[in-house]
Amino acid sequence: MPLAALTPTQGAILVWLFLFGCVVGSFLNVCIWRLPRGATIGRPKRSFCPHCGSSLRWYDNIPLVSFLMLRGRCRDCGGRVSWRYPVIEALTGVLFALVYVRQGTQMGVGVGQLTVMMLVVALLVFASAVDWEFLIIPDEVTIFGIFGGLLAGLLLPQLHVGPAAYQSYEALTGHLHLDGLIGSALGAAGGGGMVLFFAFFGHVIFQQEALGFGDVKLMAMIGAFFGWKVVVMAFFLAPFLGLLYGLPLLIARSEHVMPYGPFLSIGAVLALVFRSGLCRYAELLEHFARMIFG
Ligand SMILES: [Zn+2]
Repeated sequence: MPLAALTPTQGAILVWLFLFGCVVGSFLNVCIWRLPRGATIGRPKRSFCPHCGSSLRWYDNIPLVSFLMLRGRCRDCGGRVSWRYPVIEALTGVLFALVYVRQGTQMGVGVGQLTVMMLVVALLVFASAVDWEFLIIPDEVTIFGIFGGLLAGLLLPQLHVGPAAYQSYEALTGHLHLDGLIGSALGAAGGGGMVLFFAFFGHVIFQQEALGFGDVKLMAMIGAFFGWKVVVMAFFLAPFLGLLYGLPLLIARSEHVMPYGPFLSIGAVLALVFRSGLCRYAELLEHFARMIFG
């Protein structure tokens, strides 16, 4: 839906969700710094400067605004604040707004589904940022995510069962909630299985670990939430996104360890927000393949 076609109410929701996303991003920044370093999320309660250790005043902790006002420096010691902070805040805000514009204005997508989408987007932002810096995807996210996805499938079967292109075509057992759970389990098995399959072949053919077990669990999580069609689209989008980033690096330098989680995550967000169109495109390809191969 084009932005100009939004009603004033939808416009207000859009702005609110962007701001809400920035606040969520600010919380994610805390998790991104603390979790991989073994620190607890809740203690100390106040955010602090990693250079001088002084607690941040509330007005120095406003998403985006404080970074701009302080020009990216600590008020007390003048130490540099990482660019990651405003980037994660703005990114989360933009993604929440994007999910709303692309999915929240669609027929049949309710508040429950939107909430699930934004939760998963937040998990993906967190997982990607940690993978980017530490080359690991925390189990806290993916294991929680896989079980969360199965629960979401059970409680919100519309994530998987229905007439839309990205949903399963028909009910398997006729029990809506059971079918939702099955759709979720199939998505988890499909997403995880696909990565495992390619990781195995990458290992056999190229003698190289291109995909890790963290990627397997990440894709299982995405499949559990959004079904096998979205996760397949995400998987095939990711290499192109990775190449876009990796090719210049490969030309400039010879060896480079690249995290793959961020590209799987971008692929997943693209597949999610454009899922109707992408899945229809996949159906079209399937149709052509049937025509050619009988
Ligand atoms: Zn400081």
